[in-house]
Amino acid sequence: MSVKTRFAPSPTGYLHVGGARTALFSWLYARKHGGQFVLRIEDTDLERSTQESVDAILEGMQWLDLDYDEGPFYQTKRFDRYNEVIDQLIEKGMAYRCSCSKERLDNLREEQMAAKQKPRYDGHCRHADVSADEPHVIRFLNPTEGSVKFKDLVKGDIEVSNNELDDLIIRRTDGSPTYNLTVVVDDHDMEITQVIRGDDHINNTPRQINMYQAMGWSVPEFAHLPMILGDDGARLSKRHGAVSVMQYADEGYLPEGLLNYLVRLGWSHGDQELFSREEMIQLFELTNVNRAPSAFNTEKLNWLNAHYIKEASPADLAPLLQKHFQQLDIEATDLAVLAQIVEAQRERASTLVELADISAFYFNDPEGYSSKPAKKALVEEAIAPLTHARKALAQLAAWEREPIHQCVADAVAALEIGFGKLAMPLRISVTDGAPSPDLDLTLFLVGREATLRRIDNAIVFIQENAS
Ligand code: GLU
Repeated sequence: MSVKTRFAPSPTGYLHVGGARTALFSWLYARKHGGQFVLRIEDTDLERSTQESVDAILEGMQWLDLDYDEGPFYQTKRFDRYNEVIDQLIEKGMAYRCSCSKERLDNLREEQMAAKQKPRYDGHCRHADVSADEPHVIRFLNPTEGSVKFKDLVKGDIEVSNNELDDLIIRRTDGSPTYNLTVVVDDHDMEITQVIRGDDHINNTPRQINMYQAMGWSVPEFAHLPMILGDDGARLSKRHGAVSVMQYADEGYLPEGLLNYLVRLGWSHGDQELFSREEMIQLFELTNVNRAPSAFNTEKLNWLNAHYIKEASPADLAPLLQKHFQQLDIEATDLAVLAQIVEAQRERASTLVELADISAFYFNDPEGYSSKPAKKALVEEAIAPLTHARKALAQLAAWEREPIHQCVADAVAALEIGFGKLAMPLRISVTDGAPSPDLDLTLFLVGREATLRRIDNAIVFIQENAS
């Protein structure tokens, strides 16, 4: 049978890092084996599921370019099918009506807790013959004997005794089916061959296997991925900063960087750190997934992201940088200029937000000259060279790198001063000390009008401040 995996998020929030990692591993497994990948939205919890969340999940999947071959399927559209299976289980004598009151169940739980037993349903209604007319839930009749065994593709052999498992509710009083039932019906109907999911579901798996068997269905393979911890060792949560995939986009991470980071969260291939999408597909094996939880490490993510910022084509990054500039109220319209800014600055940035921050000076005049280098360079003896250069730059026929370079060289020669005596104050006038590339490139990218204005501002600054 050809491989078919799925990602089955509940739309009760954004696509978070843990979910994205699960989606990635499922997707990789399908792609590696030339199989299919299904997206299923598990929206049966009507109170907590929202369209906004569905949209956020789809947006996150699209940003990471985790494409699916089937779906998205919505569980809320499949209630008839779930009811059909529940009715079949009842007919087979594998499920039954239960009318135990909340009080009875609460008392039972209390008694069990007092006796230091694991709270579980005691099977009271198994033989009670509850009428369909009275309020009831449907429970799955879990086998009482033997055990459930399966070989988890990550965790290895697992065996759970049936007397650990109680009779699970599969249909609520309001008629809605529950997760453990819907997931089994869907994974069967959608012909899923490997169920790859977070290990928070591992306790559900033996119950689900019992349901497959009750229906006479073949059981898929399971792979439970260890959870992700924050760098403090606690389960990754909002407390640790960004956890939503789209928040990473907002913070200036590239999908390639985040994907590469995610693939290494719990999976390894020797000591290799960098993986292109193709390499991930080629090399991914569930057998190389760690059993132990993996810890989130923002430094490593930043390192990877810096790598992909350096690798990307400047033309591809230009429109992304443009968006991040908008966040700084900078309207940068010339994509060719933006591509050159990317090239000039990217060695110094590990996110696009940083890249925009350290490149803002191309568009914004310095707000005064308060930097240390400004204090050194903007002194009285700089006025003459600056004035000379300003005049020459204003007259330049073409505002291009080469003529700018020549113009500065000519000014230095005419003034008979060292290059730095002009270059330093000129650069500082334009940048106030922000890290910048070659002087001619810096001036070219800042543009003539802004360069001249900034030189004027710097001269005024010196006049007002130099003693
Ligand atoms: N809907 C479940 C969740 O979001 C996943 C269920 C599964 O993968 O089996 O946690």
